[in-house]
Amino acid sequence: MRAGEPVRRTDLLERATLVINRSWRPVHVTTVRRALCMVFREAARIVAPDTLATFTFLEWIRRPPPEDELAIRSPSVRLAAPEVILLLHFDRVPCHEAPFTRRNLFLRDDFTCQYCGRRCNTDLLSVDHVLPRSRGGKTSWENCVLACVGCNARKANHTPKEVGLRLLRPPVRPRWTPYLNLRPSQRMESWARFAPEHKRRTASP
Ligand SMILES: [Zn+2]
Repeated sequence: MRAGEPVRRTDLLERATLVINRSWRPVHVTTVRRALCMVFREAARIVAPDTLATFTFLEWIRRPPPEDELAIRSPSVRLAAPEVILLLHFDRVPCHEAPFTRRNLFLRDDFTCQYCGRRCNTDLLSVDHVLPRSRGGKTSWENCVLACVGCNARKANHTPKEVGLRLLRPPVRPRWTPYLNLRPSQRMESWARFAPEHKRRTASP
């Protein structure tokens, strides 16, 4: 209706949707767009996070969101973006380790300098070896952290202690979770009830 609506609709289709298996355990995070396709193909049902009622695609269409709520629109249909979908045929829980990649490191450290705590854009952050490579430091989850330009320059080829820097938390290999590919800010509040055993991977030991 208003100018700018198509952009918002696109954003909504790219928003994250939690995928839970037949035993109602989180296994994956996908986009609203892919979630709707899975529901349309009858591989999954949409779960209303408040009531836990499940819906087929047709049932979901017949349940449009309130007018003031952000919705996906086509000329004939208005529907709410699913926050959670339930797989109908899958009951395993994937079990793998979080691979050490640059992208995963940025996610683990949440785009935050691990020395001064400043959140920065990607171009202002670099991967710092806590024990410098020149002194035998490995490129691993346990020896790499994000550092901002300032802290990185200050640290150079020293250990944090030598230049009076302290790590916010010891760097560790993150546990694999269905949320691994998401920044904490992309998670929906409604997901909490589907993962009572899930501890935030940023929790300090
Ligand atoms: Zn810093």
